[in-house]
Amino acid sequence: RAKSAGGNRFEFADAEADARAITRHGLTTALPAALERGEFFIEYQPLVHLDDGSVHGAEALVRWCHPQHGVLGPDRFIPLAENTGLIVPLGRWVLQEAVRQARFWQDGAPGGHRATGPLRINVNLSPTQLQHPGLVAETVDVLERSGLEPGALCLEVTESALIGADDDLLKPLRQLAEMGVDIALDDFGTGYSNLANLRRLPVSVLKLDRSFTQGMQQHPADPVDLKIVEGIVHLAHSLELAVTVEGVETGAQAQQLRELGCDTAQGWYYARPGAPDRIHSLVLADAV
Ligand code: C2E
Ligand code: MG
Ligand code: MG
Ligand code: MG
Repeated sequence: RAKSAGGNRFEFADAEADARAITRHGLTTALPAALERGEFFIEYQPLVHLDDGSVHGAEALVRWCHPQHGVLGPDRFIPLAENTGLIVPLGRWVLQEAVRQARFWQDGAPGGHRATGPLRINVNLSPTQLQHPGLVAETVDVLERSGLEPGALCLEVTESALIGADDDLLKPLRQLAEMGVDIALDDFGTGYSNLANLRRLPVSVLKLDRSFTQGMQQHPADPVDLKIVEGIVHLAHSLELAVTVEGVETGAQAQQLRELGCDTAQGWYYARPGAPDRIHSLVLADAV
């Protein structure tokens, strides 16, 4: 009896794994047509200055409005797009769209006020995009056509994508950085990279991974976590890097991170990712 129950469980687990593989396969093959049909859209999550809560910019986060499965988050399809190379045209679309949107915020909506200060836009780059030879030329083209100044764009690259990176991989990032584009090291602290290595990378922003922020949720916060974040902030600032923290969900966390000297923050405490007009109203609210 027990054996047959176990057998059933395995069959069940197999069926589930099969279903997941079928879905993955279905999603993978549907990706190119989805891009053509315009099924992707972008939500924007504000980045705020920790000292006064004013809006610094926004991160573009892509979603897929799938006709059968509903809205899918990037974790469901970015890895598939990476595997098939579709990430290159998809990423190009995200960059184009996000830069156009940032320029629109800066100009002010029709009949609206101008945003105060240069609102910035953060766009994620995956490893395949980094290796794509057209990256620099396409980015220059997108910026020129939109009229957005390069200094208003920040490209986020994960720490793990740059571990062991050789000069060939870093060259396009160096070129972009020389043009004034900011490069952020995303999910920092999860990649076990050599801290001394930071000096070699053309980055100007560290984005501390959400796991650090989570460690600060307990009361009192774990003193070892605090020491680690404090150390990272010191190191970053001594290398003239700005520090952004992700995943801030409570006011207590924000307070703690402010005291530790972090510069900007992003998280549900401030706003969830949302439609582009949301950013516009936040910026206008700052201006009054
Ligand atoms: P990421 O770049 O580290 O983006 C931050 C993720 O944390 C987002 O998840 C965001 O919705 C989520 N988040 C923000 N604040 C909070 C918070 O307070 N609490 C919690 N628990 N989560 C929070 P999302 O939108 O699901 O994106 C996941 C990842 O997908 C991103 O991680 C990024 O690596 C990737 N991604 C998103 N858009 C793109 C894109 O256009 N291109 C590429 N290559 N990757 C993208
Ligand atoms: Mg990011
Ligand atoms: Mg991140
Ligand atoms: Mg993250």
